[in-house]
Amino acid sequence: ALTGHRGWGPAWRDPDPKPDYDYVIIGGGGHGLATAYYLAKEYKQARIAVLEKGWIGGGNVGRNTTIVRSNYLLDGNEPFYEFSLKLWEGLEQDLNYNAMMSQRGIINLMHSDAQRDAYIRRGNAMILNGADAQLLDQKQVLEKYPFLNVKNARFPVMGGLLQARAGTARHDAVAWGYARAADQRGVDIIQNCEVTGFRIEGGRILGVETSRGYIGAKKVGACVAGSSSKVMAYAGMRLPIESHVLQAFVSEGLKPVLPGVITFGAGHFYCSQSDKGGLVFGGNIDGYNSYAQRGNLPMVEDVMEEAIAMFPMLGRARLLRSWGGIMDMSMDGTPIIDKTHIDGLYFNGGWCYGGFKATPASGFVYAHLLATDTPHHTATAFRLDRFHTGHMVDEKGMGNQPN
Ligand code: FAD
Repeated sequence: ALTGHRGWGPAWRDPDPKPDYDYVIIGGGGHGLATAYYLAKEYKQARIAVLEKGWIGGGNVGRNTTIVRSNYLLDGNEPFYEFSLKLWEGLEQDLNYNAMMSQRGIINLMHSDAQRDAYIRRGNAMILNGADAQLLDQKQVLEKYPFLNVKNARFPVMGGLLQARAGTARHDAVAWGYARAADQRGVDIIQNCEVTGFRIEGGRILGVETSRGYIGAKKVGACVAGSSSKVMAYAGMRLPIESHVLQAFVSEGLKPVLPGVITFGAGHFYCSQSDKGGLVFGGNIDGYNSYAQRGNLPMVEDVMEEAIAMFPMLGRARLLRSWGGIMDMSMDGTPIIDKTHIDGLYFNGGWCYGGFKATPASGFVYAHLLATDTPHHTATAFRLDRFHTGHMVDEKGMGNQPN
């Protein structure tokens, strides 16, 4: 403001596409931008372009409920998500960008003895993988959230699983931070450039057809979240992925009331409070397949019912706005980061509800795969052929869970 908002330079260049690149990344969401950044920074690669059909941050990276955490159970998942959380912890220093990373903690509420046993098991798996986990009893939960409905509740709150290092980050800032940092390392970020086809000869990728003409590439990494099935169909692939809308909601600004992120254990509801005071929350995906970035009223009602069941006082708050994003739902709740049957064409997708928290690690391990042609050691389970061989990483309880 001291400058009267004059003289600001753009945070990244707006280059025209070159005829060819060593690496073309399709999709300028969080994962695509992070992949380009780590390719340049960690793997010392050059001649990299990110092609985005719209604008940076217009996809799910700017539509999510901003929760970051690493509270998974299975061996195939937990090391990856913990790697991601560690990258989040150093991200702002690394990018020299304020992403408002706030480790305010997440509590998954538990409502039965069986759920307590499952949470103890998951907490132990997290600790074994270098993450933090703490089991809270009802009294400890109520110290943080005294207004939770524990009396005459249909699903009494018995306690919760706390991950104190989890929290939230400002989602657009993550896209902008990666975009600026990638641009500074020479990555061409090309907006308004839709990939409309692949040029493939003799089983090898030669480049991509786009709305701005043909662009040659030695390697192409698709990273298009909700558009995964559409884009990979250009290469003749049919993915084990369905696209659904997930809605998000924000209340009017309230005084500080929620100290951290909290999730309902007897349904599908998650909530935190933004730094502007709005309660940011969401629930399940809409029940039908869709590419529309907006949802429908039955799910609005469903989410509100869960909100009120947990926090009856929320009935007094007004809803400010809601929106939707397209989720690429994999069949076991776990992502896919792998080569394809076409030489030089790679796929990253199937993030379900939970790809925002994965942004740094997804970019890092995808860059590793693209640069070295071998999977990163934290991402060996994310193979495409697991649906064929039966080696699923079935963690729908968490991968398909809130955020
Ligand atoms: P996107 O930002 O969607 O990037 C993909 C990009 O590809 C888009 O910009 C799109 O325009 C572009 N693209 C598509 N087709 C083409 C093409 N043909 N050519 C060129 N470009 C193309 N995750 C969490 O971890 N925590 C949460 O709290 C959470 N909450 C969520 C709440 C909602 C409402 C939604 C919708 C998602 C939520 N998620 C959450 C999931 C998370 O946002 C996504 O998994 C993640 O952002 C997907 O990766 P991305 O950022 O790269 O996707």
